[in-house]
Amino acid sequence: MNIPFASFKKMHSELREKLDLAYERVLESNYFIQGKECADFEKKFAGYCGVDYCVGVGNGLDALTLILRAMNIGNDDEVIVPSNTYIATALAVSSVGATPIFVEPEIQTYNINPDKVEEVITENTKAVIAVHLQGRPADMDKICAIANKHNLRVIEDAAQAHGARYKGKRVGAIGDAAGFSFYPGKNLGALGDGGCVTTNDKEIADRVRSLGNYGSDYKYHHIYKGVNSRLDELQAAFLNVKLDKLDYWNEERRKIAEKYFAGITNPLVTLPLKSDDIFEHIYHVFVIRCKERDKLEEYLNSKGIGTVKHYPIPMHRQLAYKDLGIGEGELPIAEEISRTVLSLPMYYGMTDEEIQYVVKNINEF
Ligand SMILES: *Cc1c(COP(=O)(O)O)cnc(C)c1O
Repeated sequence: MNIPFASFKKMHSELREKLDLAYERVLESNYFIQGKECADFEKKFAGYCGVDYCVGVGNGLDALTLILRAMNIGNDDEVIVPSNTYIATALAVSSVGATPIFVEPEIQTYNINPDKVEEVITENTKAVIAVHLQGRPADMDKICAIANKHNLRVIEDAAQAHGARYKGKRVGAIGDAAGFSFYPGKNLGALGDGGCVTTNDKEIADRVRSLGNYGSDYKYHHIYKGVNSRLDELQAAFLNVKLDKLDYWNEERRKIAEKYFAGITNPLVTLPLKSDDIFEHIYHVFVIRCKERDKLEEYLNSKGIGTVKHYPIPMHRQLAYKDLGIGEGELPIAEEISRTVLSLPMYYGMTDEEIQYVVKNINEF
């Protein structure tokens, strides 16, 4: 049996007609940037998250970068980020000229350990980026309490957690602002690049919109040295179609996860934490840990099962962050995670037979 790591086949074939219509609508409208589709999507996604403002941007990295710029975070500033996240979180900080300060995660949740945040706060610290990694919300009450105490901004990196809830509240509506990515493989994905910023802060929303549009407040008036980062009409039109299905797809992912939890019994394998009432997980990825990860991966691949390592090299060991001078062994939890994690197939449309085939092969390893 051949089981890909991810597939959009069922998702897109079920929506084929609506996606075709969306494309035709945009073509007929004669409007390709900053038109009705994007405005509709922004309104709809703001409502979905439960925030006042949503601003479409070019991608998830830009969403985070523009939030930092809107908060006037830059040279000589420090921003706290988890030591195990996709590198985009840290790159956003670097791209505004600030320094990412890595804080180790809790190995059970994979999310930043709030109890370690306070230790690294200095007079230069301006913000904390809480990443809801793998689709599981970070411990927002604790993070927000520390941020409040030290007068720091809280930015959510919600690129892996569309629709996840923390204490009943959607991610994207908890911090001062949040960045989302609509990269195709995310739980809500466009058919190309896309992203957005959500916030209840009008000033941040206005500044992000302007910064992403050449720093313009109205046509040919420029108040900032901005960039070009906008969500185009075609991607917004596709997202308008797909957003209606997000909760349903997330529910289906939860069902797949439940089957993994019920079926995987190999003692060599550590399962992720389950979704619960406080931390509602949307399983962007289903990540297991195994001391013999590379052998397990090879074994599963030889059985036709697709897997991915999220992520094989921690940020502080990447050439790009050599300048931070963080040596091997200095962030042991991030290193342990990158040595042992393996993501299993997880996508809308996985059949029971496919799930059981993955379970069986993991248990036989
Ligand atoms: C995907 C991702 C991003 C970046 O989003 P892009 O749209 O690819 O730029 C940022 N942070 C995290 C945690 C991500 O997974």
